[in-house]
Amino acid sequence: MNAVRKQSFEARPEYLKANFLEHIAAMGRPRDWQYITHAPPPDGDVEVLLEGFVLPRESVRLHGLAACPICSPESPKYMKGHLLWSRVDGGLYAVGHCCGHHYFQDGLLRQALRRHSSSERRKDDERLLEHNWMIPQAIVRAWDGMQPQVRALDAVTNALRAGMSAGLCRSIHRMVKDTGYLLVSEKVDRKEEMRGALRSIEVPFGDRPLAGASLLRGGSRPMAQEGKIGGLVAAIDAVAWASQDDAIWWMCEQPDGELRRLVSIVEEVLDCMRAALADLEALRAFLDPDNVEIITAWSRQAHGRGQRIQLFNEEGVISIWRGGKRQKKFRLPASILQDAGVVPSLERP
Ligand SMILES: [Zn+2]
Repeated sequence: MNAVRKQSFEARPEYLKANFLEHIAAMGRPRDWQYITHAPPPDGDVEVLLEGFVLPRESVRLHGLAACPICSPESPKYMKGHLLWSRVDGGLYAVGHCCGHHYFQDGLLRQALRRHSSSERRKDDERLLEHNWMIPQAIVRAWDGMQPQVRALDAVTNALRAGMSAGLCRSIHRMVKDTGYLLVSEKVDRKEEMRGALRSIEVPFGDRPLAGASLLRGGSRPMAQEGKIGGLVAAIDAVAWASQDDAIWWMCEQPDGELRRLVSIVEEVLDCMRAALADLEALRAFLDPDNVEIITAWSRQAHGRGQRIQLFNEEGVISIWRGGKRQKKFRLPASILQDAGVVPSLERP
């Protein structure tokens, strides 16, 4: 299409904004508007008449996207654009958001777009979400499959903590973190240095490392992974787009802050889901009958009678004894052993 300037305005035609919006609502394409010059605007003074207009959903459905005169004059590509007025030739130009801030060296447009000054960040967020438009749905689905297991994980972990005591869980976790083994004190006779004084050093206990101890990390607060993940998933559920178009539409209408928030919620929930699956695996390894036996044997050596911990897994019935008294006895929920599925992953575009 030839770049014919349709009309020239000496003063900024503020009064045409409403007419322009009516036109795109009814006709779809900005370039068909009687005042638009479908060409790249000339260098120099350019003002933004209307910043960030968005083609109405219905008009895109009927007429398709709009062509950006700067980067794709013949093939429609944008939904969000800017209506510009050139002081140099008086023309009106509708350009895509794609080009707005890259093309013009002129300060005026920059200024108008400063509100989007995190525009690079926004672009990254948009690209990421556009590329992963299925991910909100995938997260909601994955959580549906995983929730019973995570609920059981919380319940069993909290029962272990309560039965063994949070303090002992913490110290086991600390001990095992470096070497994989529980530690016991061994008295050594350092004759040369100490002239017969007995000293003790810590040595690894037994011939097998303790599995799944990462589960025992953390403070005395109960684990609430179900609540945390569930809350994040609920926030994402609101944007479980049915199509890529829906996703793009949603993004067009969101301020930068909302896009950023969605991206960080998605990243956080995926991290939490991966952590929960790792904990489930750790829990299964930890509760293996031979593995809990390591704790019982270690405690027999490491603690006095009154402090000693005994842990048993007898065909899925877990019992925890402390100082000769039974603290907890419960049957492992069947869901612990079921497959919790796969956490969707975010693909970098
Ligand atoms: Zn463009």
